[in-house]
Amino acid sequence: MTALSPILARGAEPLRAHRGTELRARSWRAEGLLRMFENVLEVGERPQDLVVYAAIGKAARDWDAAARIATALLELDVADTLVLQSGIPVGTLPTHDGAPLVLSAVNNTVGNWATADRFYDRFAAGQTIWGGLTAAAWQYIGRQGVLAGTYELLGAVAARHFGGRTPEHLRGRWMLTAGMGGMGSSQPISAAILGLSSLTVEADPVKIERLRSAGGLDVVAEDLESALAALHHALDAGEVIAVGLLGNAAETFPAVAERGLVPDVVTDQTAAHDVRFGYLPVGYSLESWAATRESDPQRVERDARASIARQVEAMLALARAGAVVFENGNNLRVQAIASLDDTVPVGRESRESAERRILSIPGFMEGYLRPLFARGIGPFRWVALSGDARDLDRIDAEVSALFPQRPEIAAWIALARQHVPEQGLPARSCWLGLGERSAIAVRVNELVASGELTAPVLFSRDHLDSAGMTHPRIGTEGMRDRSDGVTDWPLLDAMVLSATGADLVAIHSGGGGYAGWMQSTGVSIVADGAASTAQRLTRALDGDSGLGVLRHAQAGYPEAAASAAAGGETCQAPVAWFGRNEGERDA
Ligand code: NAD
Repeated sequence: MTALSPILARGAEPLRAHRGTELRARSWRAEGLLRMFENVLEVGERPQDLVVYAAIGKAARDWDAAARIATALLELDVADTLVLQSGIPVGTLPTHDGAPLVLSAVNNTVGNWATADRFYDRFAAGQTIWGGLTAAAWQYIGRQGVLAGTYELLGAVAARHFGGRTPEHLRGRWMLTAGMGGMGSSQPISAAILGLSSLTVEADPVKIERLRSAGGLDVVAEDLESALAALHHALDAGEVIAVGLLGNAAETFPAVAERGLVPDVVTDQTAAHDVRFGYLPVGYSLESWAATRESDPQRVERDARASIARQVEAMLALARAGAVVFENGNNLRVQAIASLDDTVPVGRESRESAERRILSIPGFMEGYLRPLFARGIGPFRWVALSGDARDLDRIDAEVSALFPQRPEIAAWIALARQHVPEQGLPARSCWLGLGERSAIAVRVNELVASGELTAPVLFSRDHLDSAGMTHPRIGTEGMRDRSDGVTDWPLLDAMVLSATGADLVAIHSGGGGYAGWMQSTGVSIVADGAASTAQRLTRALDGDSGLGVLRHAQAGYPEAAASAAAGGETCQAPVAWFGRNEGERDA
């Protein structure tokens, strides 16, 4: 059984995704999804617990469910659809060979019941999971998934504040941040690609060593003095350096502020969204954190919120001193605001004023990336299911040649080839927009059909995409039409993707720390070389990005209206926008 899928060994041995041209399932479409299920566990943070990333983001409910899903995928007919509910396989339904093979819904809960406490109760009882964005939808490709996004983000920060995004503009500049987990470990690498030095704080020595050995850190320090000495030595010499510091961000950030140091950029990517499992409070060791989480989880949560509040106060102080400060998608500000409820304000500022102050730190999407999302440009990705790096080389070359009007695409591919450490099946993340995604997918489908690629290729994206997500403190903060919390768009997206024949469509909602905060849609499609697949790739990928453009046009973004009028970025993808209703107004 194990030979069929390593998942059937139920975590008894280290997991490695199947590679090669041999088909275990009945179709490449099901095989591709199974390889991705295996791959998220190969590259995940704690595969033995099925945890992929983001503190407790899981690939399936438990090992029994995982094994039953793997078996179902091995046996799945292309005219049937496998239905997954919060990480367990429920059954198959007869559909047709142009319909999705897998439909999945994870932890979607009515508004009044979408609370952290209810989630943690059901999670502890094995009744639900937090699927992350890409964990339960089997789209996670390791740190590269967010690496391109962090590169785009830091590039946009540099262009806005430092006069440009080249190494010359960033010479002598540095970023203070924290977190070297599944996603956070992308930060020093993305910064170094741009020529920005970094000091990244991490509480877990194992995570630091993992990133150092992957080439993501130049120096590791155990105290702030040595870290700063290494940093300043490199900056004085005109060199770019990535320094890792073992410590707690809630202590290090204030210490940096108290020294009067002003980093050029300050952010954070600890798993602060989850105050029970994701953020180490001050005064705890990793061991006492785990033990107290069992004995007194409310205390852990309260202490984590208090520590986050300390870190956020330091970030505000650094902003006042001149640093560019933003939140990077981990709900840090929400937790700092929640900590206001844990303390009794005596002669202090009003809650409203404190909340306003905390929210003066911008979210990264509203602050920097919205103009790209408005054009449907976002974190697209593909995975060479063969496991053969030469397949990825070939696709990289195709992409680099396909979009001469947007030279930044070829430039990113060249940088990624040089700097992105390999993890799992060969994969590439690349920010592409409406029309561009389907153009490369159809070209790859031709290469699969002609045998120039050794096996099919899976296309996917982060859920945090133009149409795919609603999160009023991340992807949709500060929308012009005040649609920040409206979940119609990701739900419409799932319908569009199902109607257009994607292979996997998943709708996720928040776990503990994101409870009541997010709704997202994920998509995967396998380019297996069939002519009918080319049609599904075009319809689904254009439908997905097209809806993102329509959403932003409707919300009042002129870039989106222009993109809809032009019918895509560099390639044609017709979108018919009706224009705004007469009554619609911007915020
Ligand atoms: P993770 O759980 O894999 O890693 C979190 C890391 O933070 C761990 O290594 C942990 O040891 C460290 N940490 C926790 N508390 C700390 C503290 N007080 N001081 C120093 N280090 C501490 O999580 P991840 O997958 O890296 O994700 C990080 C966050 O980013 C999550 O909240 C996630 O939801 C969010 N995220 C944002 C984006 C985005 O697009 N911006 C994308 C993905 C994830």
